[in-house]
Amino acid sequence: MRGHAEIAGSGFAGLTAAIALRQRGWTVRVHESSPELRAFGAGIFIWENGLRVLRALDVYDPVVAGAHVAPGYEARNARNERLACESFGPQRGTRMLTMTREHLYRPMVTVAQRLGVEILVNSEVTGASPEGELRTVDGRTWRADLAIGADGVRSNVRQALGLEPKRTKFDLGVIRLLVPRGRDDVPGTDPENVINFWSREHRILYVPCNASELYLALGARHTDREGTAIPVNRQVWSNAFPFLAHIVERIGNQGRYDTYETQRLPSWSVGRTAVVGDSAHAMPPTLGQGAGCAMMNALSLAVIVSDSGSVEDGLRRWEATERPLTDHVQDVSSSYAATRAGADGTSKWDAGALRAALHVPTGTEAAAA
Ligand code: FAD
Repeated sequence: MRGHAEIAGSGFAGLTAAIALRQRGWTVRVHESSPELRAFGAGIFIWENGLRVLRALDVYDPVVAGAHVAPGYEARNARNERLACESFGPQRGTRMLTMTREHLYRPMVTVAQRLGVEILVNSEVTGASPEGELRTVDGRTWRADLAIGADGVRSNVRQALGLEPKRTKFDLGVIRLLVPRGRDDVPGTDPENVINFWSREHRILYVPCNASELYLALGARHTDREGTAIPVNRQVWSNAFPFLAHIVERIGNQGRYDTYETQRLPSWSVGRTAVVGDSAHAMPPTLGQGAGCAMMNALSLAVIVSDSGSVEDGLRRWEATERPLTDHVQDVSSSYAATRAGADGTSKWDAGALRAALHVPTGTEAAAA
């Protein structure tokens, strides 16, 4: 079937659903509460499953063209000694690309607008109904054959549908930010690698995004006032990793601290209204799969509903088909968050951790790699 869709949120889930529905003949309107279409200033990991979705959305080429392919994923300790190093690529069946969020986001906006998706900024969704309706802050009701809440971890749509999440909160979190890259920033190893530096209390995840931008994720427990301070307490981080002090010095007033959280819902839809992405299945970022799952599930939602006799039937089939993998990724990413997997150098990239990365998502070509 095809019809009209109203979507709350223009993040990776909302834009994926919008593009995929539009590709299948739907008319689509997206409500974004922010005043502008812009991704948060941090980096992101995209694995093979996400790349396959990007290909199906027709945004693969511009994303891959400017992204970084790290030769290795290293773990190092606070004395800058190597604990472990792994590489990904065709031999492992999955690539691991890193990039700024804006680099991923911009082509998605471009393709959505080129296809005729209507995106309204300053349009905060405050309510929803199972009849495929969204309500916005200006008092308007927007009726559709299919309504989607892709409005993130604090979803208003989810709340309006009465979908109470089961929450698991972790005491870990990270400050995310971008800084300029320097030449040979990391002594003693290949600075093109993604590197997780571990001390007992702190962690710096060093992620090249391109030739000039470096993504840093500074990990600390939420009770650590100095480690979680914004603006970043540069002294704390330089003391923890003295050999990275020259990079820490580049941090200005930017950065945002987010704790890790898993949310599970009793159902991903009610009637003709669904939730997808972090509004439905938020998870800790330990596997770098939150956006990957958001995009996979948003694409499959569009594919399966378009292929069904009714929206309600399509949404039921969608959840039955897609949810087991997402549940698994939530389990593994949560257990890694609870155990600080990787801190001792033992590999965390086993088959369970890579299951989503190796998955061929619904609606994508198996030959995408
Ligand atoms: P969001 O990205 O939260 O987008 C929601 C959108 O809806 C936003 O534009 C917001 O402004 C808008 N909105 C919110 N409320 C309303 C409303 N009421 N009305 C209208 N619009 C609204 N995933 C990866 O795949 N790889 C990674 O490397 C990775 N690293 C991460 C690191 C950290 C520290 C964290 C916390 C997460 C990470 N993730 C990663 C997860 C990833 O960021 C999320 O899973 C992904 O952004 C979810 O996309 P989304 O579109 O569902 O939600």
